[in-house]
Amino acid sequence: MASKQAFWTVPAKDGEPDLWVCMSCLNEAFCRKVPMPACPTCHGVSTYEAFTLAAVQDWGTAELIAKATAAQREAEAITAAASATPPVESVQ
Ligand SMILES: [Zn+2]
Repeated sequence: MASKQAFWTVPAKDGEPDLWVCMSCLNEAFCRKVPMPACPTCHGVSTYEAFTLAAVQDWGTAELIAKATAAQREAEAITAAASATPPVESVQ
């Protein structure tokens, strides 16, 4: 990657959608975070709205669905890694 995209972290809330889709270009999707200061594709500010993956799959383009699916998998992997209990070594 040539340039590093910065993000606002959006904490996941129970029962609320955590996939953030740009409503301006409908070409970017991120999970539990939104790019800052603007959308990397259309440079729109505050254009992101939250959806569930099922909703995106309902109306999104194939490309958007692929991005949304990948974003959610990535977020789930990070969550799983963060909640994994570190191995405890017993001192003998
Ligand atoms: Zn956009």
